[in-house]
Amino acid sequence: KKITIAIDGFSSTGKSTLAKQIAKQLGYIYVDTGAMYRAVTYFAMRNNFVSENHLDADGLIENLSNITLQFHFNEEVGFAEMYLNNENVEIAIRTIEVSRLVSKIAEISEVRAKLVEQQQQMGKNKGIVMDGRDIGTVVFPNADLKLFMTASPETKAQRRFDELIEKGQQVTFEEVLQNVQERDYIDTHREDSPLVKAEDAIEIDNSHLSKKEQYELVMELVNE
Ligand code: C5P
Repeated sequence: KKITIAIDGFSSTGKSTLAKQIAKQLGYIYVDTGAMYRAVTYFAMRNNFVSENHLDADGLIENLSNITLQFHFNEEVGFAEMYLNNENVEIAIRTIEVSRLVSKIAEISEVRAKLVEQQQQMGKNKGIVMDGRDIGTVVFPNADLKLFMTASPETKAQRRFDELIEKGQQVTFEEVLQNVQERDYIDTHREDSPLVKAEDAIEIDNSHLSKKEQYELVMELVNE
């Protein structure tokens, strides 16, 4: 029997790596909801609705109907990539600039309403692994399995730093640590949908767990 798996938690706790692995093993669809918030942010940046020191939330809200988000499976990389209005933005949405602005955009309740609705549509048929911040609390409160991932700020920043360096981006560890802490702060203090652990979620602190250990732990939970 296929199930719905919700994986929530702070940024850079390895949610997506784990979610992808689980989805692949089970033959489920994997949805990275962070990519959707990032794509909307990228759209807002390109259309001058947001920058480091300005936010035109009303302008963005008026244009929400001009945003089409889709995931297309890429055989070569083995996962679905994010498309914004038919353009592959998988790389463009992972920059530190987008990471710096995304929390501002994710705070806009109209943006959340649009994305949550689309996420619920995608989850209509079971057999889905979705990762984000509010999946077990807002998107799928009835998910069959809910996980909540945590890790120390240094562990998270180190992971994110390694990822960005690997992608050839010029950043310092300090910058990344600061960004991770800022995003966690904003994500936890958001009014509408703060990042909180669902009551029935299982917490996994993975500061000291290898990818393999996490994967095995979750597969055990899935098979329970
Ligand atoms: O998961 P990722 O770090 O890529 O998410 C980027 C940002 O998108 C988060 O910092 C958060 O502000 C926002 N987000 C959200 N709700 C989700 C997923 C992501 O608000 N379900």
